[in-house]
Amino acid sequence: MYNPDVVSGSECRKKNRTFFLSFFSALVYNMAVMRILVVEDEHKIANSIKKGLEQESYAVDLAYDGEDGFGLAATEDYDLIILDLMLPKMDGMEICAKLRQEEKVHTPILILTAKDQVEDKVNGLNLGADDYLTKPFSFAELLARIRALSRRPKNGLNTVLTVKDLSLDSLSFEVKRAGKKIDLSKKEFALLEYLLRHKGRILSKEQIINHVWDYDADILPNTLEVYIGYLRNKIDKPFKNKPLLIQTVRGFGYKIGVSG
Ligand code: CA
Repeated sequence: MYNPDVVSGSECRKKNRTFFLSFFSALVYNMAVMRILVVEDEHKIANSIKKGLEQESYAVDLAYDGEDGFGLAATEDYDLIILDLMLPKMDGMEICAKLRQEEKVHTPILILTAKDQVEDKVNGLNLGADDYLTKPFSFAELLARIRALSRRPKNGLNTVLTVKDLSLDSLSFEVKRAGKKIDLSKKEFALLEYLLRHKGRILSKEQIINHVWDYDADILPNTLEVYIGYLRNKIDKPFKNKPLLIQTVRGFGYKIGVSG
């Protein structure tokens, strides 16, 4: 069975990244934390997921029944919804269908399902869920799915991200500033895309690294600074009469947007 004490998500991290955690964990809740809603009626599982995700610096709300879950999902702004299928008051399939069809909520949904509900799982995906996980699951597996989903656009139609005269098309991979095409490496593109998805918000170095680099990547303490430098050389430096778009927030991290 799922047991966060046995399979801790933090075990997946590289040791050289842990210093970021302790340093930024106190700050991270005041910044652009990824918010996750967990709808699960088994209190033990729900509370374990919440505890594990909070240790990974996610902000987590819990709902123990379908009605509460639907109410929160329809009114609050989440980055991801983890949804059990078998729930009292309103089941996960109904929640999924109503969110997508009636409420036009496009937040990624990760379905949790028991092994004997394979058919439900397929139906869930047809109703607009993005992925599913079969119980029992390891916490590492859950984290990997969350990370994969959080890289997807929230609204499938909104693939062009902009700030001022800079635009990034996440489908065609085209980046332009002031009408001029800019060539970025894969990593530079991923970094810019992440900054743009959180335009105007301060992002800690730890958040950026966790979202842009894989867990098994070799990250040195200055890797992010180096890549921010590469990006500045391409999107800010050549445009001398234009405002600088990448802002350094000393001691915290970075944000994209025009200051003042
Ligand atoms: Ca259940």
